Amino acid sequence: VTVFSGQTVALFGLGGSGLVTARALAAGGADVVAFDDKPESCDAARAAGIAVTDLRTVDWSAFAALVLAPGVPLTHPKPHWTVEMAKAAGVEIIGDIELFARERRKTAPEAKLIAITGTNGKSTTTALIGHILDKAGRKAEVGGNIGRAVLDLSPLTSDRFYVVECSSYQIDLAPTLDADAGLLLNLTPDHLDRHGDMANYAAIKERLVMQAGVAVIGVDDDYCRAIAERLDAVHHRVVRISKDRATVDTGIAFNGGAIVAVDAAGADTVIADLSSHPVLRGAHNGQNAAAAIAACEAVGLTDAEIVTGLASFLGLAHRMQPIAKLNGVLFVNDSKATNADAAAPALASFSDIYWIAGGRAKAGGITSLAPFFPKIARAYLIGEAAPAFAETLDGKVETVLAGTLDAAVRAAADDAAAGGTAAPVVLLSPACASFDQFRSFEQRGDAFVSAVMALDGVKPLVK
Ligand code: ADP
Repeated sequence: VTVFSGQTVALFGLGGSGLVTARALAAGGADVVAFDDKPESCDAARAAGIAVTDLRTVDWSAFAALVLAPGVPLTHPKPHWTVEMAKAAGVEIIGDIELFARERRKTAPEAKLIAITGTNGKSTTTALIGHILDKAGRKAEVGGNIGRAVLDLSPLTSDRFYVVECSSYQIDLAPTLDADAGLLLNLTPDHLDRHGDMANYAAIKERLVMQAGVAVIGVDDDYCRAIAERLDAVHHRVVRISKDRATVDTGIAFNGGAIVAVDAAGADTVIADLSSHPVLRGAHNGQNAAAAIAACEAVGLTDAEIVTGLASFLGLAHRMQPIAKLNGVLFVNDSKATNADAAAPALASFSDIYWIAGGRAKAGGITSLAPFFPKIARAYLIGEAAPAFAETLDGKVETVLAGTLDAAVRAAADDAAAGGTAAPVVLLSPACASFDQFRSFEQRGDAFVSAVMALDGVKPLVK
């Protein structure tokens, strides 16, 4: 980022995106004074070649900006000390997405920017838009709150499409974020610890759509409906989307099976049929799909291009992701389910489940999953939690102490194919952390996919 070239910038927060941001600012000619109050983070930064200086002991009047990591409190429960020092010195406070927005205006205003926020469905919608763009042959770069930090994406060029998931923390730090399409999916009370109250939380999210070229707003909750009404008066391109056709007079809505465009006269045109979609099931995904369609239309894709991308979307990696079929058995990667609560939706979604579970146990184990036990044909237990899980399942579900993920996949694949059930699913939804056998849930999911792909005759689902 060159927007602070030749200037001195304070940067606080060296975990996660902080290192990337510090490096990007320095590469763009800024003089970065970086700090973190965790000594380990400072050490990691130094090891990565970033100079670290205690920001408590320097003169703040020389700083052009304070670049803050998302999650560092601006106001609630009380302002972080860096925020107070910046305010006292009249230094503006921004985050990496603001840097990205400014850099786009300066160096590549033709590059497309789609920003997504909301309480729920952000990652699904972000990934879906990225996938549709990709399938349509556009150069899609997906990041922000999902996956890679924006300043870690491929450099801004006019032919690229940036799809950026924004948490409310990140919007709070991006005062001039001006996406071509801004999406606000829904708003329910959440993160109020940081933002104080619902009015403030809603106001932060509202800014993302207010300043966007096209404002896409889900109108299924009262907060978002009010925002859409306010925007009607001041914004010339508001697109209403809904998970319920009855809710919109004009816009894009889910009618229970298809996504329809509703014109000004209230007439429907079907855009895409989701009734047999492999992963976009349920009204909430109707909301996500409607939003993705509106965003892709806003950046110039045809409905034909959008429909092709929608049809081949297989969901987010490691989250209830169908990956392959063999002998009538579906293999599903839900490695992200690192506790019992997170595993519940996958267990609720299927019957005839050959369940691979275990790893490093979390408090409470799997007792809360008892309502799903009747749907589990057999459980394949791995990692440290195996003995405890076997005890919980004893007398209710037949268990196999498989030990490793590889062994579990092979045994489950054989049993599921021979089981004679109608819709057998081999499901990795571990209800455990991965750290006893893997570096991360992503590595565990990748190992599951590799083990499945090594099975004789397996057919990967199209990507
Ligand atoms: P986020 O990134 O906002 O946390 P995700 O796309 O990762 O959202 O979805 C998380 C979970 O929230 C999903 O597993 C699903 O159960 C639920 N969900 C997804 N989309 C929506 C939506 N539009 N409205 C309500 N809940 C949703």
